Amino acid sequence: QNNTPKKLVVIYAPPGMPGHLFPAVELGKLLVAQGLKVTLVLGGEDNHGAGGLLLAGIEAVIPSLSFHCLPRATLPSDVPTAAGGSEARLFGLARASNLDLRDFLRSASPAADALVIDFFCGSALDVGAELGIPTYFFLTTCISCVAFCLYQQVIHEQTTLSFRDLGGELLEVPGLPPIPADHLPAFILDRDSLSTKFFLDVSERLCNSHGLIVNTCRSLEPRATDAIVSGLCALPGRRTPPLYCIGPLIKPDEVGTESHECLAWLDGQPKASVVFLSFGSLGRFSAEQIRQMAAGLETSGQRFLWVVRRPPGDEHQPADDLDSLFPKGFLRRTKERGLVVMSWAPQREVLAHGAVGGFVTHCGWNSVLEAVMAGVPMLAWPLYAEQRMNKVFLVEEMQLAVAIEGYDKGMVEAREVAAKVRWLVESDGGKELRQRAHAAMRLAKEALDDGGESRTALLQLAREWQNAGDS
Ligand code: UDP
Repeated sequence: QNNTPKKLVVIYAPPGMPGHLFPAVELGKLLVAQGLKVTLVLGGEDNHGAGGLLLAGIEAVIPSLSFHCLPRATLPSDVPTAAGGSEARLFGLARASNLDLRDFLRSASPAADALVIDFFCGSALDVGAELGIPTYFFLTTCISCVAFCLYQQVIHEQTTLSFRDLGGELLEVPGLPPIPADHLPAFILDRDSLSTKFFLDVSERLCNSHGLIVNTCRSLEPRATDAIVSGLCALPGRRTPPLYCIGPLIKPDEVGTESHECLAWLDGQPKASVVFLSFGSLGRFSAEQIRQMAAGLETSGQRFLWVVRRPPGDEHQPADDLDSLFPKGFLRRTKERGLVVMSWAPQREVLAHGAVGGFVTHCGWNSVLEAVMAGVPMLAWPLYAEQRMNKVFLVEEMQLAVAIEGYDKGMVEAREVAAKVRWLVESDGGKELRQRAHAAMRLAKEALDDGGESRTALLQLAREWQNAGDS
């Protein structure tokens, strides 16, 4: 019996972002399995948000983790509530929560041996430094985005222009395919914006941290991984902290919930025949775009499962009034081979279902990892955040997706939807994409197996923390 007190790792996630919280929970569970004590701290919101409720729900099903919700935060006066954009707001909230985080860490018993912070909570690096707690980043996006973020400091020194002024000009970043400047996240397009300042600040902090833990595996993004490790992405002379690729961590089956109707529907479909369309936790389209998608799916003649949300401003219509969203008679005509689900589907389970043969995705990184772990080829239709960049990496570098053209023109036409969906399911090109998806899945699973690269990186981290403070 080992009576040594367990070492405590505190993982700090931003409020209101399930795509950041869920991987943090998975990381916490893995660390607990390695004999560490883990507390997951959720950032304070400025509007009595649902963060506490969300945490309570997770706490109920994962008793091995402890949770703590920081008190409601007040946005600093230099961060405009609306005009600053949601990213500036998140960075600002995290900064405002630093004092509460410090109080929490001071009162933690045993004292924390490591602090693991999300990208949007980057300012908490100061809290770790003040309390002498080694602080690591846990990055829930792809490593190619991390490479870009590090390198942005170099780009910032090379030009005085805003990315917005560069239009489609290609940016060269070590280890990455050329990125059109207009494919960068909207919140960093203006050089002088508050969100760009926050972003550059976090980019700097990445270099000052004890390590970068990334939810990916090297086999998915070898060039970007190697570029970071060899120091090519940081400013000349700057240190790059150790890199730990520990993924893909994806959320497990939802427990305690009844099987969703769409899973039963998939049971009745042939193997790898259904194209699944789902656009993250926030994706929405205009009424006309929904009609174009429907017309395209109908003409494609393929099976589909489509998660649909009402267009912005139309959310208050009765939930069961589906017909009005689509071209007249669409649901009736496609009912033998298509299913429309309103708002939300159990995506991970859907992707893992053998009947699913393709995924039209907004390129959110969790969605991508779920598709990779299921060996499902993708059609890329990026919408917001860093998704256009992810699309470039997925299509040009990982070669696990083909783009749906028009995503950057304001409207994807029905005939493009039809052509790409048909191509994916029926063509030799689609078959090759599927084979590449399977190969990526095998490598990702190997990385997580005993002796695999991701598993080894995780064990190394856990060991470092278990030995923290011992001489
Ligand atoms: N998701 C889901 N059902 C849906 C839409 C999304 O389960 O109908 C889950 C999806 O499986 C993923 C997360 O929500 O785990 C979305 O994260 P991602 O990083 O892909 O996109 P974000 O929502 O952050 O833009």
